[in-house]
Amino acid sequence: MREKIISRTIISLILLIVVEPILLLLGYKIEALVFAILVLIYLAFVIITNNMRIRYMLIKKKKAIICANIDNSELVKLYYGTFVYKNIIKRIYKIIKRNFATTCVSKKFGEQFIILYKYDQKNEIVSIINKINKEIQHALDDDFFTISLSFGIQICDNKDYETNENKAVIACNGAKKQELNLYSFYNIQDTENELREKQILLKLIKALKNNEFEVYFQPKYDFSLKKIVGSEALVRLVQNGEIVKADEFIDIAEKYGFTVFLDRYVFKETCKKICELKKANIEFNTISINVSRSTLCEEEAINYYVDTLEKCGLNKKDIELEVTERSEDSFHKVGEKIHKLSKVFNVSLDDFGVGNSSLSMLMENSIKTIKIDRHFVIDDSPEGRKILNNIIKLIKELGFNIVAEGVETEEQKKYLESKGCHVIQGYYYSKPLTFEEFKKLLENGGIQNGS
Ligand code: C2E
Ligand code: CA
Ligand code: CA
Repeated sequence: MREKIISRTIISLILLIVVEPILLLLGYKIEALVFAILVLIYLAFVIITNNMRIRYMLIKKKKAIICANIDNSELVKLYYGTFVYKNIIKRIYKIIKRNFATTCVSKKFGEQFIILYKYDQKNEIVSIINKINKEIQHALDDDFFTISLSFGIQICDNKDYETNENKAVIACNGAKKQELNLYSFYNIQDTENELREKQILLKLIKALKNNEFEVYFQPKYDFSLKKIVGSEALVRLVQNGEIVKADEFIDIAEKYGFTVFLDRYVFKETCKKICELKKANIEFNTISINVSRSTLCEEEAINYYVDTLEKCGLNKKDIELEVTERSEDSFHKVGEKIHKLSKVFNVSLDDFGVGNSSLSMLMENSIKTIKIDRHFVIDDSPEGRKILNNIIKLIKELGFNIVAEGVETEEQKKYLESKGCHVIQGYYYSKPLTFEEFKKLLENGGIQNGS
């Protein structure tokens, strides 16, 4: 449409430039004036009718709200610094603004882009998102290799702009969860999930205030030495007599950054329990504490751990930190933090084999112990066993300590032992125990009651 106006304007101007001098040369002054007025009237007519047509089409067009957001913005900020981050936001804003010249673009909380987009066909939305994404990747790729965006789309369904905007934001969060998806359309399931997550988060925040988290302990047993060689501290939510396993809330806690607080709490509580064991002269070897990725990336985390340890009068060797690589972040992002951490504590790599960059982790000499994930232990197919066998070989050859997680049966334990993996953690030896149960087990020299 724009091309049509431009071509008509150019033709009109050419006509004016060519015809006017000829008329004037021939002495047709009045005709020249009339001709110029007619051309100008024609031009005005073209522009006015065209604007009216655009307005009419915009009114007739359907509306969608698109929310765009940088993935892992906290990590990007940490990685590049706030100043550079703001600059990245500005550059993205410019690109989006350019692409949506006729619509409204705003920034929410300084880093989320909200776009009111008018369209005829739904596929126009997808193509413009793909186009913007390509442009952003092209513009940022050279300097910022880790930047990616997610888009959430809400097809406006009523006049309440805010509800529609919130739905676009929820859809954007949904897109972030689906690793391979650049965009996601809002659906009711997203809202229900988000609402459920927010409720759980609220419950967790309240529970932390009310001291409703408890630490359980699961021993790691060495079948060749026939003794407990360590234990893992596992957090539980205990409310009205109900015990909720970490599995049920840890992903949500991590998603909303709550693990930063929870991990500190678990660290402090575990230190207190270790003090009790020491006072009672009970041998416990090392206690492992889980550290989430967000905790690891938090500036003050290591200082907090060291301070707490010193305040409790404990030795660094009393504690080991288990870093999980369940998240989508690659090792180079957390590698530096692990390095720092390992200068103070022994570090073990959790969930080996299911993380994103486990193999590159093996090059990291700051890690002392590798925990083989439960998935490899329970898969007793010939292929599964081949994989487990070779994982054990590789880890041992590289000189790491090795622990197998989630061992439940005699068969699994025997297989692991036959391959030289003697330290196991799992229901086969013991479930996670309350502190009192754990203390009794240690006092018994690791011998279970009745066995
Ligand atoms: P994880 O670190 O891999 O911990 C082992 C999980 O497997 C625990 O679940 C444990 O109860 C369970 N488990 C142990 N032995 C067996 C077994 O033989 N069979 C089966 N099916 N499961 C077994 P839990 O306590 O629900 O913890 C789940 C995850 O939550 C943990 O996985 C860990 O990643 C995380 N987590 C637990 N406590 C904390 C914490 O204080 N901070 C952080 N950041 N994460 C924690
Ligand atoms: Ca763990
Ligand atoms: Ca694990």
